[in-house]
Amino acid sequence: MVKVRDKGGPLRSQETRIGNEPALPSTIASSMPVSRIREIMDLAWEDPQVIHLEVGEPDFPTPSHIVDAAHEAARAGQTRYAPNAGLPELREALADKVARRNGYEARPDQIVVTQGGIQALYLVLRALLEPGDEVLLPDPAWPNFRMIAHLLGAQVLPYPLVAQGDFLPRPEDLERLVTPRTRVILVNSPSNPLGTVLPRELAKTLLDFARSHGLWFIADEVYDELTFDETFVSVGSVAEPDDRLVSVYSFSKVYAMTGWRVGYLVAPSDLAELLTGMQEPIVSCVNTPAQLAALAAVTGPQQVVGEMRDAYKERRDELLGILDRGELTSTRPSGAFYVWTDVSKASVPSMDLARSLIESEHVAVAPGSAFGELGEGYVRLSLASSREDLLEGASRLVRFVHHLGEAHS
Ligand code: PLP
Repeated sequence: MVKVRDKGGPLRSQETRIGNEPALPSTIASSMPVSRIREIMDLAWEDPQVIHLEVGEPDFPTPSHIVDAAHEAARAGQTRYAPNAGLPELREALADKVARRNGYEARPDQIVVTQGGIQALYLVLRALLEPGDEVLLPDPAWPNFRMIAHLLGAQVLPYPLVAQGDFLPRPEDLERLVTPRTRVILVNSPSNPLGTVLPRELAKTLLDFARSHGLWFIADEVYDELTFDETFVSVGSVAEPDDRLVSVYSFSKVYAMTGWRVGYLVAPSDLAELLTGMQEPIVSCVNTPAQLAALAAVTGPQQVVGEMRDAYKERRDELLGILDRGELTSTRPSGAFYVWTDVSKASVPSMDLARSLIESEHVAVAPGSAFGELGEGYVRLSLASSREDLLEGASRLVRFVHHLGEAHS
């Protein structure tokens, strides 16, 4: 039984409520794990001098033609409810985008516009999982996957992404973990926090695995257009037509639109129809001017994306130079905008390291343990910070890790 802590009062449990005692929040809500990245962010915001390398959002403003489109839409009175699945013109434009840039065919009726990628993930997992069902999630991974599973009462089967496996899923681990109660495998490529992308052959192998166990496959590809070499392939482009695949995308990272809250998913049409119906009691529809801004983003000039991608790539190369000279082993990301750095030389837990790095060096990083048990010994550095901040912050991190390591030797 999960205990609920009353504000300042004693612990009480939901199940011991008798008579007309005030009802408490559900045990699932009350036992929701807190985000440790958020904890570090809150600490960092108390210190105005801090260099922020912990934040997972672009430091660029939303391109002006996208902002103008929302402004014009609102001025023209396009401020009413939209259809549950999204504006038809946006869904059509997204079907085109998926064909041109992700390399597979999808009809507009397979697309549901959502409130960011996170709402697409919540929606689809809500549709596919019963309480007690199991979902295969990466470890380390973006912590929100696990939080969704928690809210749904699902069991997480963490599959390892470790240096010995090039930080990619290993089929033998998945075979070891899967049970008759497993319903879903979720794969994130390009990966937050690792920056790895799923090679074509491995994507096929993982689809085979899902098929042979009757699992749904969720491909989180929200960083699909932030890739630095030619290795990224969308899972949809190597899937069979009847695969039970749902792909999730977002405007947040690719177009620097985190606050606009527009994402979308591509699903088999019968599932898309079900998900569309579920939107009604959850969000009804996504903000209409924001959908028109998204339409301008996807149909307008794409060099804005290229410019941001080039900036992240340049920052990546300079950052890796500093970490390399400082003898901190890091992943060389092929996509997304994060570098995953081994700080085990410091010989302290990554959360303690992140806290004391703020206090002593005024640098905030995301502790590896925030991303799962196997993230311990690492930190995630975000390339979405100005070049100057990134280089200065990384130099201080190197110095601090060596200093701690010497103190513990
Ligand atoms: N998936 C991954 C791997 C992410 O890192 C994020 C955001 O950090 C999301 C999905 C969802 O982003 P949004 O809801 O802003 O589209």
